[in-house]
Amino acid sequence: MSYGYRSDRRGFSIRPQWIIALILLLFGTFRFLTNTQVNPVTGEKQHVAMSVSQEIALGVQSAPSMAAQMGGKVDPHSQSATLVREVGERLVATSVARKSEYRFQFHLLRDPDMVNAFALPGGQIFITNGLLRRLQNEAQLAGVLGHEIGHVIHRHGAQHMAQGQFGQILVTAVGVASSDDRHSGRANQQVAAMVNSMVKLSYSRGDESQSDQFGLEAMTAAGFDPSQMLGVMKILSEASKSNRQPEWLGSHPHPEHRAEQIETWLHKQYPDGIPDNLTIGRKFQSH
Ligand SMILES: [Zn+2]
Repeated sequence: MSYGYRSDRRGFSIRPQWIIALILLLFGTFRFLTNTQVNPVTGEKQHVAMSVSQEIALGVQSAPSMAAQMGGKVDPHSQSATLVREVGERLVATSVARKSEYRFQFHLLRDPDMVNAFALPGGQIFITNGLLRRLQNEAQLAGVLGHEIGHVIHRHGAQHMAQGQFGQILVTAVGVASSDDRHSGRANQQVAAMVNSMVKLSYSRGDESQSDQFGLEAMTAAGFDPSQMLGVMKILSEASKSNRQPEWLGSHPHPEHRAEQIETWLHKQYPDGIPDNLTIGRKFQSH
């Protein structure tokens, strides 16, 4: 009897993964390759794998397993998680992101060592404590979150799925969907691997510059000094010299290269220097 009960519970716990698998499968490989959509925010014509509402569903479904892998979420009512949410929401409210259908949610993850920030398709955005505690002020936090909002708005995740980089995920999805309760351990492993590859997904340099530019524009619109993005690059570059390689570097071009492009943008936008009304926001206590 008790075995039967446990077995039922296991069956229940796999449901979210089934949903992810089904969402992925529904798109179908052929549709991936043939689907073209006009980006509702940027007007760009893109090969994307899914509709905006599908992106949102995929992001919302995978967010909990994603968070669990990085020590779980920090209490959303805590001071630091509130700060992340407030800065994120301010960026959305003042940039073109507010015109999109995406439901942006900003999460702080517990992992104190991992230096990472990432976005799932549809607007779920994460930053680790490891990165947050290295940042010096609100403007730098806005730069990191603005960059991630850029990936969502430009639909880079959906675009990559269409480009076939997610072929492996499709295979995994088939595995998840076809496994029964007896293999739920294996299915969970496969889902973990799938979610992992979503985060470690490396975007092209073009995608990264596009997101950096979006981040710079968004932080400026929110009243932050965009030159603080250079501070973020310095922090990433220093973190990469320590023993532990920041996860962000796995999926992002070298911060030195990005810094050059950021400098170019700053000189072009503000040849006479950064206006006084753009500030660094609140200073963070050093750790
Ligand atoms: Zn990026």
